[in-house]
Amino acid sequence: MSWIPNTFDNYNRMGDVGVIAICCVIFILLASSYVSRTLSFRVFSGIVGVLFLAALIDIGYHDLILLRNPALNTWIYILRIVYVALLFNTFFLFSLYTSIVSNLEHKKARIIAVAASLMLVVFVSIDVILTVRGIGFHIDADGTVHGGFDVFMIGYLLFAAFLASQMFRIRNHLFKRVLYGFYGVMAVSVSIRIGQYALNQSSLTTLTFSLPAIAMLYFMHSSPYNVVVGTLDIRAMEDYVQRLYKRKAPFIFMSLLLPDFNVEGKSLPESIQAQTRRFSRELFRNGILFMLGNGHIVMIAAKKRNPDYEEWMKNILQEFLEQFENFKLPYKIVYGESMEEISRDIKYADLIESANAGIPLNTIHRVNDEDIARFSEHEYILAELKDICEKHDLDDPRVLAYCQPVLNCHTHTLNSAEALMRLNLEKTGVIYPDSFIPLAESHGYIHVLTEIILHKTCQEIRKLSAEGFAVKRISVNVSVLELRSSEFCGDIERIIRNAEIPSDKIAIELTESHSEADFMIMKEIIEKLHRQGIQFYLDDFGTGYSNMERIMELPFDIIKFDRTMLIACDKDDRSAKMVNSLANMFRDMAYSVLYEGVEDDADEALCAGMSASYLQGYKYSRPVPIERLREFLPKAM
Ligand code: C2E
Ligand code: CA
Ligand code: CA
Repeated sequence: MSWIPNTFDNYNRMGDVGVIAICCVIFILLASSYVSRTLSFRVFSGIVGVLFLAALIDIGYHDLILLRNPALNTWIYILRIVYVALLFNTFFLFSLYTSIVSNLEHKKARIIAVAASLMLVVFVSIDVILTVRGIGFHIDADGTVHGGFDVFMIGYLLFAAFLASQMFRIRNHLFKRVLYGFYGVMAVSVSIRIGQYALNQSSLTTLTFSLPAIAMLYFMHSSPYNVVVGTLDIRAMEDYVQRLYKRKAPFIFMSLLLPDFNVEGKSLPESIQAQTRRFSRELFRNGILFMLGNGHIVMIAAKKRNPDYEEWMKNILQEFLEQFENFKLPYKIVYGESMEEISRDIKYADLIESANAGIPLNTIHRVNDEDIARFSEHEYILAELKDICEKHDLDDPRVLAYCQPVLNCHTHTLNSAEALMRLNLEKTGVIYPDSFIPLAESHGYIHVLTEIILHKTCQEIRKLSAEGFAVKRISVNVSVLELRSSEFCGDIERIIRNAEIPSDKIAIELTESHSEADFMIMKEIIEKLHRQGIQFYLDDFGTGYSNMERIMELPFDIIKFDRTMLIACDKDDRSAKMVNSLANMFRDMAYSVLYEGVEDDADEALCAGMSASYLQGYKYSRPVPIERLREFLPKAM
């Protein structure tokens, strides 16, 4: 009688050696890539680890069988059952993994986990019982090994079906292609298993458990795919747009921005995710979702597949409004059709951003020619800003220094001023800060602009002083973002030094920042530059929530009360009392108070009664080119 009948005479180590190699490669890939170490990542690593171990044990117990030593039988039994348990355990981990990556509700995830662990326990127990009863795998007294009744195969098929059904359950989170891809891999694994069974083989068993792991690695960790929301990333959107453009396939796009969630570390509530998925699936054919920010989703759908797109877009918007009655969240919706010039440069993300910037909250806006024109202007301004930055010419004629004189209430002279920036560009003419400062800030060009304005201001102060004008001080606006650069103080000091003017002729205007890190930096910089004689103004006081404790910790010289405070005073007595007592408090604490936006005599009279040290506004002058400041300044005695 043959010593090793059944599947055992056909076992070949190469299958398991292959699995060990695959696991090692996956480990190397995981260790050397930038996949974030999330819970799902750890579960996935666990699956690979278990497969690695299973392959080793499979080799081990088959080798023991070949030794034909009855004393080792117990070890063979133990190793075999450990092997079976490990393999079923990978299925258990797989189902845990899909629950995690699809962000399944706790309750549902627990039901699945319990079902999977039950299956694990039941099949391992049945295998043990069958072995004990001599029906399953067993070794006879004479040393003959029997594969016996293969409960393992049934378990495999059941588990595979269970996994497939679980993938089906989360199908709404999945891109169709990913789902089909996964089914394809499962089909290959099951076919190998069945083929093996038919051929009385067992060499590839561990491999059939490993194939889904390879599929997971590819689908979940390497593609730009967000399984939780069911979206692709911005790079994928660019690729897709490019593909449609090359195929000359027109498409429509819809963007949903939820500003509350569009910050780092936040994610959309599940109910909203479900709605957006439903919109893209049910109301459109082949609508693909892309995620441009945590709270910003864009859907793109080819027109060809959606001939009635006008109607469908209307339906979506209507449904959206109904649904949002429940959510009560601020939103912005921008939608429109593909356009040749935007597609060519793949600029939809920028176009959408620009359109969003131009509309108020809770509006639905269809992109029109005006948006496109404004967008092209933005693009043009950005290109110019970039060029200004790269040239880094402090005398760049495109950056204009304007100035608004400030009235000193003690001397009744306009002996100081605020520098305000304008750009003079070839295609647009002179443009105002609101059309370029936010762009310059978000693209990192703001500091060079500040340097230019500071340089031009310093040069003008030098000229004015030489001409005998009593210019006490000119303030320059600085964005909080600039302070984060370690070179900030050095740049400012150098520009003032090169102009050979005293540092106390310059002041820096800063607005309050609510970030702890910015506060610390601000404090350090103000203290440092203060020692050089540079003064600091707190700009726009009264436009947001102020943290008084923090303000007091920063050695500001002047608090600039925003025009909104004056407007509030005009409206009701309570506000007037509040502004008055704030101003008194600042004055008592040795700060000077400057009122901005003094437009007429009434404003001036109001301020005069509220601890004003300085006044600034159209009443005295609109901002003028800095050369015209001499028209306002008093002459030095
Ligand atoms: P801001 O620093 O609060 O500047 C005051 C703004 O109020 C100026 O607008 C000025 O023209 C306007 N203004 C002056 N008097 C009156 C008045 O009586 N009534 C009203 N309603 N408004 C008045 P502008 O020049 O358009 O500047 C807007 C904002 O752009 C500035 O607000 C400042 O935040 C920013 N900005 C301007 N120049 C620079 C700069 O060189 N660097 C930086 N980072 N920001 C700048
Ligand atoms: Ca200012
Ligand atoms: Ca201001």
